[in-house]
Amino acid sequence: MHKGEFKHLTTKKILITGGSGFIGSHLCEQLLSQGYEIICCDNFYTGQKQNIYHLLNNPKFELLRHDITFPLYLEVDEIYNLACPASPIHYQFDPVQTLKTCVHGSINMLGLAKRVKAKIFQASTSEVYGDPEIHPQPETYWGKVNPIGPRSCYDEGKRCAETLFFDYHRQHKLEIKVGRIFNTYGPRMHPNDGRVVSNFILQALQNKPLTVYGKGEQTRSFCYVDDLVKAIIKFMNTPSDITGPINLGNPAEISILELAETIITLTNSRSKIEFKPLPENDPTRRKPDISLAQKILNWQPTTSLEKGLMQTIEYFEDYLKKVAQKIN
Ligand code: NAD
Ligand code: UDP
Ligand code: UDP
Repeated sequence: MHKGEFKHLTTKKILITGGSGFIGSHLCEQLLSQGYEIICCDNFYTGQKQNIYHLLNNPKFELLRHDITFPLYLEVDEIYNLACPASPIHYQFDPVQTLKTCVHGSINMLGLAKRVKAKIFQASTSEVYGDPEIHPQPETYWGKVNPIGPRSCYDEGKRCAETLFFDYHRQHKLEIKVGRIFNTYGPRMHPNDGRVVSNFILQALQNKPLTVYGKGEQTRSFCYVDDLVKAIIKFMNTPSDITGPINLGNPAEISILELAETIITLTNSRSKIEFKPLPENDPTRRKPDISLAQKILNWQPTTSLEKGLMQTIEYFEDYLKKVAQKIN
């Protein structure tokens, strides 16, 4: 690499909204390690400060407490728009705020990108496919989404955000990158957001029953966070005509019951399985078709479920120790 290129790399300013959240904090870390200047914007709605404590002393890292539903004026080269509560418990707690974040928040970030001519990545979701009728889901599938159900604030909010991204692209020639993220897990998942991997690991580590909803026959495909973050960065660095949407996830499909059994084994837990009612509109199957990501990004996940789960189990073991120390 010659000097001119290096200078450009070290001075690039990157805005990461939702940067103190689970995925956002890993993205901040990864991009900092590549020498970029990071502005992490978060209103701490679901993000945890401890996710980014270790970055606060880095002179290239700047933390901004701000809600993206309000305008934001900054000078940046790239924007990763991750701000949005992501788990059903959190996004259903204040559905109107969830929609505002998806819609007003996206408009503000697109307005910012338009003004400063920054390229912008949108963290979309597999939920845009709703309860899909085809498996695995390719990007060309338009989805089956209930517009008025309890999950709609998130599903329809993210669909509207995709529409906004493509309209800003067509109308204002913005450089956009829309990634549809499938279930992701790893260290720094929120302990109380009710997602299946964190719930099962915390239950297993405490020898409490693992709460399987329905019969546990529904499937999901879990991607380890490091693999996902690599894909997001690769996507951002594709040529300008690559807009997506591109599915980002791990196609290895597993039933929720099998996941529960795997976690009990990996934690050497004495936990039993307890069956609970299935939540409304819970998708029965979800598995990404990642052929586009393989072709365009030359990427595919490399972390096995066992390895990723072990890293996550270690994180939650540590978390439980810290909680116990605070109590005693
Ligand atoms: P998270 O809840 O840990 O992170 C979201 C972050 O956004 C939090 O730090 C939160 O405080 C912040 N935030 C929320 N509303 C905001 C607002 N109005 N202004 C500023 N900050 C705000 O969730 P995550 O799992 O890290 O998800 C990150 C993104 O990826 C989300 O957009 C989510 O929809 C998307 N996604 C995640 C998954 C997954 O499995 N984790 C799957 C699909 C899509
Ligand atoms: N915006 C922002 N930061 C900027 C530029 C714009 O937050 O640097 C917001 C602005 O408040 C506006 C929104 O982004 O409401 C959309 O901007 P755009 O230029 O597309 O629309 P307009 O300002 O013409 O309504
Ligand atoms: N689930 C479960 N027990 C739990 C939490 C979740 O059986 O304690 C199920 C849930 O019903 C869904 C799957 O696990 O079928 C994944 O749930 P999660 O909330 O993690 O993600 P999403 O539904 O958004 O894919």
